[in-house]
Amino acid sequence: MANLADFKYTMESCNHCGQCKWILPARMKGWDFASVCPLHEFHGFDAYSGQGLIQIAKERLDGKLEYGDGLETLLYACPACGACDINCKSVRDMEVLDTIYALREDCVEAGYLPEPLRRTAANVEETHNIYGKPHSERFAWLPPDFRDDPEADTALFVGCSAYRYPDIALAAIRILRAGGVKFKLLREDEWCCGAPLWRTGQREAAEKLIRRNVDTFRRHGIQTVITACAECFGSFRGGYPRYADTEGLEFKHITQVAAELLSGGKLRLRKGDEPLRVTYHDPCMLGRLSEKYVPWDGEIRPYGLHVPEKVWRRGEHGVYEEPREILRALEGVELCEMTRNLEEALCCGAAARDVDPEFAAWTAAERRREAKAAGAQAIVSCCPFCRDALGSDGENALPYLDLTVLLAERLKEEA
Ligand code: SF4
Ligand code: SF4
Repeated sequence: MANLADFKYTMESCNHCGQCKWILPARMKGWDFASVCPLHEFHGFDAYSGQGLIQIAKERLDGKLEYGDGLETLLYACPACGACDINCKSVRDMEVLDTIYALREDCVEAGYLPEPLRRTAANVEETHNIYGKPHSERFAWLPPDFRDDPEADTALFVGCSAYRYPDIALAAIRILRAGGVKFKLLREDEWCCGAPLWRTGQREAAEKLIRRNVDTFRRHGIQTVITACAECFGSFRGGYPRYADTEGLEFKHITQVAAELLSGGKLRLRKGDEPLRVTYHDPCMLGRLSEKYVPWDGEIRPYGLHVPEKVWRRGEHGVYEEPREILRALEGVELCEMTRNLEEALCCGAAARDVDPEFAAWTAAERRREAKAAGAQAIVSCCPFCRDALGSDGENALPYLDLTVLLAERLKEEA
């Protein structure tokens, strides 16, 4: 059950310093690209920020605030990108994002989950994918002659996004094949990873689905789950341990596997056709939010001393280097960096598209503006939802390239 009281310490410790809204001062190069919270930058009020949301959580805990007057729209316009959380943690030991999640659970319990998110949840329940497409078509894009290895203890989890972007799943298959990795697909046993449920505060439904997925991995004898979707990856690592025992299961993103294969000399690449200057966008769920969640149950003593010691997720152990290693391995590709990168990357805004489309479109355009300012001819990333946002038409349009697809196209071997 939602328990806002678990985050009372965070609510009471916020000193309104504002660090959750800005990149670290030492990295600031001026006002432009200094904001790390797109919600605050767009809406311009403190309520629309990590600082504001934990204040709202406190008001709810104290019984001073009700939903039903737009509060829920504000709460779900936030894409839960976690930049506020890791930036606050650069100066304090607090749980800003987990407080936002608890507030969402509170909102769901109060019956105010916004309608578009209800529809997505109903799709997941009825069809096991976010789009409401027939479950039987989850792998409809597989070539008829495709054969996996039924004895493998590694699964490739393609995610719901394979309905819309089968090229990413096919590219992941080509990379694994070329590298000699034995794997299997779970076919009709693969269901949504559950990110759209737990990240929106739908605890009960999330728990049921996540436990079911973990049981399925074990039933298939899986020890390693590889996914080409950043959202699934962040969900497995940062979400699953909140709801299920994942002991003995290893989760990897395809870029980690590909970087390993490249450094081991197992992938042979051909040259590109034209030189290309690209920038890399760190997806939130592959970067700062992909650190493993370690449950903690203890006592918070004076001065914030957590006993027993707590494992803090500060964002520095996300998957940042491997995608860049892959880009550096592609001859003719030049990598340039945006000001806001690694754990301080600006979110693409995709998660806000259903609830606050104007803000979501602005955020994607702002990220593309930053890419252009870095001198990039194209923006590269490896999350299907970032592809939805950054690859869309609109202000500052820029070619978007998926890293998994880009790498697969450069493979010499035919898989
Ligand atoms: S950085 Fe942390 S302490 Fe400072 S205003 Fe934001 S939430 Fe509060
Ligand atoms: S999660 Fe992201 S958008 Fe939401 S308040 Fe924090 S920094 Fe802003």
